[in-house]
This record gives sequence, structure tokens and C-alpha cells, in this order.
Amino acid sequence: MAIKKIRSSGALAILTSGGDAPGMNGCVRGCVRTALEAGFKVYAVYEGYQGLIDGNIKELSWESVGNIIQLGGTVIGTARSSEFRERSGRLKAVRNLLHYNIDKLVVIGGDGSLSGAEALRAEFPSLVEELQSSGAISASDVGTPTLTVAGAIGSIDNDMVGSDYTIGADSALHRIVEALDAITSTAYSHQRTFIIEVMGRNCGHLALMAALASGASGCFIPEMPPPENWADLLQENILEGAKAGRRVNLIIAAEGACDINNHKLDAAQIKDELKKRGVDSRITILGHVQRGGVPSAYDRLISTLFGAECIKMLTADKQESQIAVLQRNRVGSTGLTAAVEATRAAGRALAAGDYASAGRARGDEWLRMAGIQKTMMRLSPPEHSKSNNQRKLRIAVATCGRAAAGVNSALRTIIRMGLASGAEILAIEEGPTGMIQGKAHLAEWMEPELWNAFGGSRLGAGIYRQTAGDLSKIAGNFRQWQCDGLIVIGDWGGYRLLDRLYKARKRHAEFAIPMIAVPASINNDLPGSEYSIGCDTALNNIVDAIDKIRNSTDTAKRTYVVEVMGRYSGYLACCAALASGAEYCYTPERPLSLDELRHDVREMADAFKLENRHTGLIIRNENAHDDYSTDFIATLFEADGGDEFDVRKAVLGPIQQGGSPSPLDRIQAVRLAYFAVRNLLESIAVDVKGAYFIGCQAGEVVIHPWSDLRHSPDPWKRTRCKRWYGDYEKAIRKLAINPEVRNRRR
Ligand code: ADP
Repeated sequence: MAIKKIRSSGALAILTSGGDAPGMNGCVRGCVRTALEAGFKVYAVYEGYQGLIDGNIKELSWESVGNIIQLGGTVIGTARSSEFRERSGRLKAVRNLLHYNIDKLVVIGGDGSLSGAEALRAEFPSLVEELQSSGAISASDVGTPTLTVAGAIGSIDNDMVGSDYTIGADSALHRIVEALDAITSTAYSHQRTFIIEVMGRNCGHLALMAALASGASGCFIPEMPPPENWADLLQENILEGAKAGRRVNLIIAAEGACDINNHKLDAAQIKDELKKRGVDSRITILGHVQRGGVPSAYDRLISTLFGAECIKMLTADKQESQIAVLQRNRVGSTGLTAAVEATRAAGRALAAGDYASAGRARGDEWLRMAGIQKTMMRLSPPEHSKSNNQRKLRIAVATCGRAAAGVNSALRTIIRMGLASGAEILAIEEGPTGMIQGKAHLAEWMEPELWNAFGGSRLGAGIYRQTAGDLSKIAGNFRQWQCDGLIVIGDWGGYRLLDRLYKARKRHAEFAIPMIAVPASINNDLPGSEYSIGCDTALNNIVDAIDKIRNSTDTAKRTYVVEVMGRYSGYLACCAALASGAEYCYTPERPLSLDELRHDVREMADAFKLENRHTGLIIRNENAHDDYSTDFIATLFEADGGDEFDVRKAVLGPIQQGGSPSPLDRIQAVRLAYFAVRNLLESIAVDVKGAYFIGCQAGEVVIHPWSDLRHSPDPWKRTRCKRWYGDYEKAIRKLAINPEVRNRRR
């Protein structure tokens, strides 16, 4: 076997290992294309570490990872290899690495696969030495024997300590929540109890998030074993629930769930215990469905960035092996060994029954969500919230603006967490109209029981249009309703309404109460927040539609111009473009010129000519340019693209707003709503009558004083404003167009 000298500019290989996860292909694509751009020779190792041992290694080109971002699983195959666990197996692997002059390895897999990568890196010099001393390779063939390793965590379990995200977890949650929504309708019809077992190994993330997103009435997770008498409590909850009008009981059991004595607790045992207590139930074990299917928009997006980050890490000359992580809503890197060790430590803590340590490893935010779920699955508010004869605080809640999926999860949380805190929740109907016309009712605990799966707002929303005398009417209603605080969930119209109320405090004392605005808009354009409720569902709707549009082409070479919503925010356009591998993305924040469009047409034509591609994709935000409309761009590409492709356009329209809310939208809505209620009640308690707007920034929930609104960019005039997702836009072209094609036009 001819061995080439290892040089620091040696080749790079990528492999996927362990359990497959949707999004792995996005990571492979992001990694391969960034590596090619950086000038590396790139190889794929097929079938994980076993492929490395067997020499199942092939060189990859730019095109070889085209058209894979939308596919589930991993196109380069994965495997579990017991041989690789042995030094003798790793010796064979090293021989193959040397053969291909590979000195950089990207591994996409779970903590096991990453440990394997680290073991290989650590032993690499000694393995090379062993090959030399056995005569398998000649000593002069190898220079400095080093292997640099980078990892991306591919695991549906979301169990890696130190990262808020692992590839595939969001897609798995999509599968689970789709299944739970489907089970809900049959359970509702028959008033049934279902026990649903979900994956996650020894991590309760999927189970907990699925319970929050579906509105489950029971949840068993490894980190928080139930009390000794759990079966009696569950029986009581189900029987009392039926009396209270609950028709559906979804009990979510994580596959790693245990009882307080650290004995495994699975769906069959839960069913048996319920049966002993006269409660009939059905079991659904979701199994491998959770791993399968197309990746969610979020998984396509972040996994792509993880892939690019791996190459950044490999070229950064760090001593220690690194893995790509998501922290504070940004992709970055951390040391592989420490992260894997912390993850293993959490596993060991669980095995030893040290639940507190295991819970802490999941993070404060995660523990908070577990606490919220505990309250949300109750049948009624806790006793302490009911007692005493004092007048209860009354919080009004209204939804304003266009439909944004996830709003109902926010409403459900406000109602239940508000009632659980001893307040009354006044649900204002039909948004601004109800506020003006005095339509409202006191919400009850069971009212929002099944709201999570519905799009839009169950209270009714509506767009606020200022009318003469509306403030006086609202003040009159507020006087009658005796509100102590107000939560408005909505888009910019909702924020403007709250702004009017806030500014009218001097004239109308009724508005001198704490108020808070919660962002809900598919455009994700609201101040002080990197996230607004509904934007993830819209993104999934867009990516889903693009998959269908692309599949509609059989033989014709075609470029699609797809117009998406977003108002004056390019968020949806940028994320959709990156998540679907579009070549170009035009947004309002970046000035678009005819020169740029002309350049892009020629570049696209070159790409069709030089590569064997069948489709091109352009995403245009609805307000990207006043004159260069979607029609104009489609016509220009058709006219100037020559014979290389024809052009079709698609204006996606209202389908972007509709549909069942994505898991991420439901979960983030719960989180924002929880903080909104808590902040309002705290403000009332200390008699602070401020107004606030809430948001997620760098992964944290932030409460801004209303005065900060003045310093925030107006969503209607966002042109050229700084965007936290600006790097996404930069990555789009780089990952979609071959540098050889790109450089021709420089
Ligand atoms: P995951 O990567 O999803 O955690 P596994 O734990 O099954 O999945 O690991 C996948 C593969 O990684 C194993 O089959 C084995 O080949 C390799 N591997 C795991 N742990 C080690 C280790 N400590 N040393 C060497 N190889 C390992």
C-alpha cells in the first residue's frame, strides 16, 4: 500500500456514526462544501468507523453533496462498530487514513462516536508507530503523525452537556408531536388514556418537551422520578380529570424513565399499575419513527452551520479536539473531551440515583421548563392559590395581529400559570375589537386544555386600527373589568396598541397598570427579541413547500423564484434559503441592484452549464425591492439565463401563516408566556406600574422597559439594520455555488 507523507495540508475525511439523526446530511453538506472552499481534498468514509476499518472511503466533489439537505438519515451511511472499540480495529483505521493522506477527521455522531474520535486522535501517533515497527508502513513515509479531530453532535436525544442543540432533536420532536396530535383526536373521541413511550436514552429532553408541546397530563422522565405513590396519583388525576371534563390523557414516558428506587419504569408497567387501579389505557411506542423522516427547518439550518463550524475548528490550530455547539442561540465550539465527560457524568449520576446532579447538567432553563410542565398538567390550580378572601389580582390578556402559530400555547400558559399563582385571567376576545367593544370572560383552568395543536388564536385576534374615541372605550372597559395588569401577545400592531395605552396613562388612570407585550409574528421582526412566536412554524411551512416545489421537476432544468413573507424583515427569507440550499436570497435589509441580479443570472447559468444540476432556487422576501419584484426577477432569469434553465415562480402567501404550530413555537411560547405572567405579577406585588416588552436574546429571556422601544428599529423601517442572523445570509451563496463557478465571475 503506497503511503503518502502526512503534511499539515493533508486531506480531510468526514463520517457519520452511531444512531442516525435527521439533519446529518445538512451537516455533511455544510462541512464538505466549506472544506472544499478552504482548499481541502475531501473524503467521505461510508458506514461510520466500520467503513474506516474496511477502507470504504471515496473522494467527494461539490456536486456529490448536492440535493441532500432535505433528506432524512445520512447519505454516507452510519454504523456501530465493535471492532473500532478495539485497538486492533483502530490500527486498521489508521492505516487507511494514512493511505489517503487524511490528517483531519470530522465525526458526526453521539457521545460514543465522539469518544471514539478522541480515542483515535489520542492514539494516532502510537498507532502509526506500531504500523511502522510491524513493517506495515515504512518509517520514512510518515512525517509528523498527527490527526486533528472535530465533531458535530448528531443525536436525537439532545443530551450533550454544553450544547443547547444536537442534530436531529428538533426533527424527532416534530415526529413525536405530530403523533401526539394524531393520538389526541382518537383519544378525544373515546375519552381514552394513552401512554406514549418516546426515545431519548437516559435523557428526558424529548419526553419533557413533547409533554409541554402537546399538553400531556402525565410525564415520566429519568431526571425527575415520580414519588413512591405515583400510580395512585396518576389514577386520581385521570379519574378526577374525567369528572372535570378532560377527554384526553396523554402520558409521556421517556424510554429511560425510572421510579424513585431507580428501577426502570416503562409504558407496560405504567399500564399495569393503572389497570390494577381500574383505569384502562393504551400504549403507543413511537420507536424508530422518531428518527426517520425529513429534517425540520431548524435541523437543516443549524446542522449546516455546525458543518461549517467543524472546518473552522479544524483550521483554527487548537491543541484540543473541538465540537460544534449551540450556546446562547449562536453556533460556536467547545472542547470535545470536557463536553463528553460532562455528558457521561450526567449519565453516571442518573445510574447512581443522583437525580439532582443529572437535572443540573440539563441546565436551569430546562429545570424551569420541567417545573412549568408539572403545574401545567394539573387538573386545577393548587390549593394555596384558591384560599383567602382577599380580592384576587386580575390579569387581562389579548392577542393582536395576524395569525402566528404557537399563540395558543402562550395563552394556555398564561391562563394556567396565572391561575396557579392565585390570579384571575380575563381573556379578551377578538383582540383589539374585544378591547374596544368590551368582549371578555374569566378564563377557567380546563378551558385551554387542548389548545396547543391549533394555529391562530383561540381567543380571536385582529389587527389594531386606530379609531376616534377608541382609547376612551378601552378605558371604560378596563374600569369595569378592574384589571391589575395586561398582557398583549401580538405583532407590531399589538405593540403600537400597547404604546397608545401606555402613553395615554395621564388621561386615563385605568392604563396605569403594569403591561407587557409578548412577540408573536411570523416575520420575526419585533424589537428586543431574536425570536417571535410563529416564525418557526412559518419557516417549516416554507421549507416544506420548497421541498414540494423542487420535487415537481422531473427532467426540465429549472430555476424557481419563491417569494416569502417577512414584511421588512429578511429573517424568514434568509433562514429558508440556508435551510433549503437556495443559491440566492434577496432581503429588504440588503440593498439589491440590477448589477447584482445580472451577475446572479450569469452565475446561475454557469452553474447549470458546468455542474449537472437540475434545479436552482432563489428566495425573495416580499419587500426585498420596490421595483425588482418577484415577476421581474423571474422574467430576468428567464430572459438572460439562456437555454440553461427555464424559470417558474411561486408566491407562497398565507400558507406560511397556517398549520399546526411547530414544537419549537409551542415550547418557546410557553417560555415567553411564563416569564410574562411572572414579571407582571412581580410588578403588581411591588406596585411598579411599568410597561415592558419581552423577548429572547442570545438564548435568554429578556424583559425590556417600554422606554427601550424608542431605541429599537421600527419593523417597518428596518432597511440596513444590523441583524443577528447576518452571517446566515453570507453563508447562503458560499454553500450553494461552487467556488469554481463563483470565481469565474469575479
Ligand atoms: P452514539 O455515537 O450515537 O453515542 P455509540 O455509543 O453506539 O453511538 O457509538 C458509535 C460507535 O462509536 C461505536 O459503535 C464505536 O464504533 C465507536 N465508539 C464509541 N465509543 C467508543 C470508544 N470509547 N472508543 C472507541 N470507539 C468508540
